[in-house]
Amino acid sequence: MEREYDIVIIGTGVAGTTLAHQVGYSGLNIAVIDSREYGGTCPLRGCDPKKALASASEAADWNNRLIGRGAGTESPLRIDWPSLIEFKRTFTEDYPRKIEKSLFEMGIDTYHGRAYFEDENTVAVGEDKLKGVYIFIAAGARPRKLGIPGEEYLTSSEEFMETEKLPERIVFVGGGYISFEFAHIARRAGCRVTILQRSERPLEQFDPDLVDMLLKASEVAGIEVLTNNPVVAVEKEGGSLLVRTEFKTESHSETHTFFADMVVHGAGRVPDLEDLQPENAGIRVENGAIVVDKHMRTSNPRVYAGGDCTSEGMPLTPVATLQARVAAANVLDGNRVEADYTGIPRAVFTIPPLASVGISVPPDSTKYRVVFRDRSNWYSTRRTGMEFAGSKVIIDKENDRIMGAHILGPNAEEAINLFAAAMRLGLKASDLKKVVYAYPGVCSDIVYML
Ligand code: NDP
Repeated sequence: MEREYDIVIIGTGVAGTTLAHQVGYSGLNIAVIDSREYGGTCPLRGCDPKKALASASEAADWNNRLIGRGAGTESPLRIDWPSLIEFKRTFTEDYPRKIEKSLFEMGIDTYHGRAYFEDENTVAVGEDKLKGVYIFIAAGARPRKLGIPGEEYLTSSEEFMETEKLPERIVFVGGGYISFEFAHIARRAGCRVTILQRSERPLEQFDPDLVDMLLKASEVAGIEVLTNNPVVAVEKEGGSLLVRTEFKTESHSETHTFFADMVVHGAGRVPDLEDLQPENAGIRVENGAIVVDKHMRTSNPRVYAGGDCTSEGMPLTPVATLQARVAAANVLDGNRVEADYTGIPRAVFTIPPLASVGISVPPDSTKYRVVFRDRSNWYSTRRTGMEFAGSKVIIDKENDRIMGAHILGPNAEEAINLFAAAMRLGLKASDLKKVVYAYPGVCSDIVYML
């Protein structure tokens, strides 16, 4: 059936639902489409369920760190994986129904199916053809196809979080966010864990000095991280999986094999544009991502896009939220608002967590003050039984503005928000020193990090 809408939204993840909630009460006629259950990656298959698992591993680890220090159980705690997975499901199971109901209650029509563009303003889904005055693409991302033999044996991060019983040996392909977070969780569940990273440096998005400290913490926890080990094949051998890596330079070549019971894909995600056929609507795609301008508009002026399927901004939940708000404002009120990516924090939920905002390498070392602190022996670290913590802050000497901040250690993911706020609001390092912080907390350390 052919139907006409003011706005057609493709995808019900964070970007799609944020835009829907922004425009939902405007009296416009709106449709949303999703090919899977409503809610998208972050609440159902990503950040939120992952954080439930990470919190349990943090609790178990904290207990174990304090054994013999006045607290902690007699023998070390391990995560009870099956009951943790049950607990995790309490956050995800009812979410699709709730989110679809909230959209329905706003008067938004909800569709299920794989959407594709038929022409510049028509989106087809199943038998329906939805014509939109405006269209918002929030199609999200999926694991990158690696194109290696045995790719079918890889376990996705989504499947990992649905695994009822964790095996003894797990290999993670890639040394990015997913591998580090899940490796830290799996280790606290008693697994033997190896991360195989393609290039020299894992967690490239983070400050190298603090990543080095995190690597030490990972090693102490019993997590093996091997760099310069690009995975080139996965094979079945008996009841095990065999992972092959091959590292080549002009002068030498090294191959290695690893045995595992599970091999997890942590080697990057890409925009999920499969089936969408954006070319039918004149929408430009570059390097597999939808090209958008600062207004979140695609090359088709009636089509906007936001979240992990776009070319702009980091593929993170807060970025998807920001982009959807910008797109909503521009759809409702002409193209007046531009996306501003200043001071967007990111965090990897390892033990200890690592959080960052802004740059980590100053473009001109003479113009910036770089304050590095090894905080491993600071009170805020020691009282939690953690062994590794650090911070690095990069300050523009000319105007005292913070250009980057990086924190490893307890509550890093919370403390980073103060630096993010300072950067976004244009505060100076001296302004952050003037703040009176609740004591003793990690934020009260900020004055000593500057
Ligand atoms: P990332 O982009 O973080 O890291 C991928 C890593 O895999 C890179 O280090 C890359 O190495 C390596 N790699 C690629 N191919 C191979 C190979 N064949 N063998 C070995 N290593 C390989 O990807 P993730 O999959 O971890 O995460 C995807 C996205 O999900 C992230 O970009 C992030 O936006 C999001 N995410 C965010 C989280 C958070 O905010 N806490 C948590 C989880 C995911 P190289 O450096 O050589 O390219």
